[in-house]
Amino acid sequence: MQKDQDFPQLEVLRETSERGITRDISWRRSQLLALETFLIEREQDIAAALYDDFRKSPAETFLTETGYLRGEIRFALKHLTSWMKTHRVSIPLIYQPGHSSYRSEPYGVVLIIGAWNYPINLCLAPLISAVAAGNCAVVKPSEHARHTSKVIAEGLYHYLDKRAICVIEGGVETSKALLEEHFDYLFFTGSQTIGREVMHAAAKHLTPLTLELGGKCPCIVEPDVDLRVAARRIVWAKFLNAGQTCIAPDYVFVDKKVEGELLRYMGEAITDFYGADPRLSSDYPRIVNENNFNRLEKLLSASLPLRGGITDSHEYYVAPTILKGVTLQSEVMQAEIFGPLLPVIAYGDLGEALEGIQRGPKPLALYLFSADPKVQERVVRQSCSGGVCINDLLFQASLPGLPFGGIGSSGFGAYHGQAGFDTFSFKRSVLKRSLYPDPDLRYPPYTGKKFGFLKHLVTLFS
Ligand code: NAD
Repeated sequence: MQKDQDFPQLEVLRETSERGITRDISWRRSQLLALETFLIEREQDIAAALYDDFRKSPAETFLTETGYLRGEIRFALKHLTSWMKTHRVSIPLIYQPGHSSYRSEPYGVVLIIGAWNYPINLCLAPLISAVAAGNCAVVKPSEHARHTSKVIAEGLYHYLDKRAICVIEGGVETSKALLEEHFDYLFFTGSQTIGREVMHAAAKHLTPLTLELGGKCPCIVEPDVDLRVAARRIVWAKFLNAGQTCIAPDYVFVDKKVEGELLRYMGEAITDFYGADPRLSSDYPRIVNENNFNRLEKLLSASLPLRGGITDSHEYYVAPTILKGVTLQSEVMQAEIFGPLLPVIAYGDLGEALEGIQRGPKPLALYLFSADPKVQERVVRQSCSGGVCINDLLFQASLPGLPFGGIGSSGFGAYHGQAGFDTFSFKRSVLKRSLYPDPDLRYPPYTGKKFGFLKHLVTLFS
């Protein structure tokens, strides 16, 4: 394991934080603009790195990574002044004269650990929030997207303030060694298993943290919607990034009256989007590594593919696959799939689907296709998830005005837009009092008469 002295950069960051350099709004703005410049000037290098890592297409990279991040930066620049505003709070009569307020202050030096599946987005979106909030930051990209990790490391070194922001590349051992260090805040994106380890490490230094984890996100399809549109949107959201998306629909619950029709439209959508042989599509990525490929092959071998089901271990290819005959007890329903396998389960009554969802762990996202506002309200009320999207998928995570995060085993804390700024700041209260008057009433000894009068005052004026 690496020793403390292997991270000399941390000392530099701590010193910068102590000197208060990163608190200044002009510093925050300059770093956000520099990050934007990096994303614009190095767009092609970033796209090439993601293609090399798992054959992600430049269009998907722009839509889900660089384009999204540029929007997030613009949003932060636009709202930064108001987010940083000091809030005045009125003072009860008994505490007057005085002046009270609170403000958002940076934690100090924060650690951001990213996952590989959206390797730029999951490192830089938290960094935007951390910088907007005035922190110094260490970014640890995932070792499983090694080309992208390199572009991030080189890019941030050249574009951002080295005194305050650094990238430390490496695998599990580096991550563990970093977690031994004392940071002021931890922001982790990844699996539930590693999330537990991160929380354990945080406890040692009592470090506050956010965990952005995964889980099984359900999608319910009611019979009263345009099934062709629903099918196209579901297929798009599931097979984007070859299903390696934390908020992808993990499985579909569909009213059995329209199951056949939905399946037919889904099949058509797969051919429309990726051609008769998706392996030849330049828009269809690969599975990131052998472990994940083997895991998906094992799930496939225990399932009945209605469509797809083809794999190729030479290039970690798994075809867009729809599974039928799945029940809540099937192996594929026991953990997050995180790949291009889509189980479809038919229900006779919406209540059955809701009960199935309620009995499982709380998901990161829940999707519903229904034209009926009463059904929409019922599903939102009778379920719990990090976010909900009705009649579409994934976009709840793209709007900078909406907080993004999990609940229960899908994580805790949120970011994007102001939620990200708030996550990386704490509210610091400041009370200014006058030295006078200084009545004897507040000080002991509390005689019976004095205590009675005090009680009266506190009850009436606080
Ligand atoms: P992972 O948990 O294996 O790794 C994430 C990061 O943790 C990597 O940087 C890795 O180096 C580090 N790490 C690995 N082992 C560690 C250890 N023992 N101690 C400390 N750090 C360690 O996750 P992954 O495979 O990169 O990502 C897939 C998972 O992430 C899925 O479950 C997915 O749902 C989830 N995810 C969640 C979100 C979200 O926003 N909620 C986004 C993307 C992915």
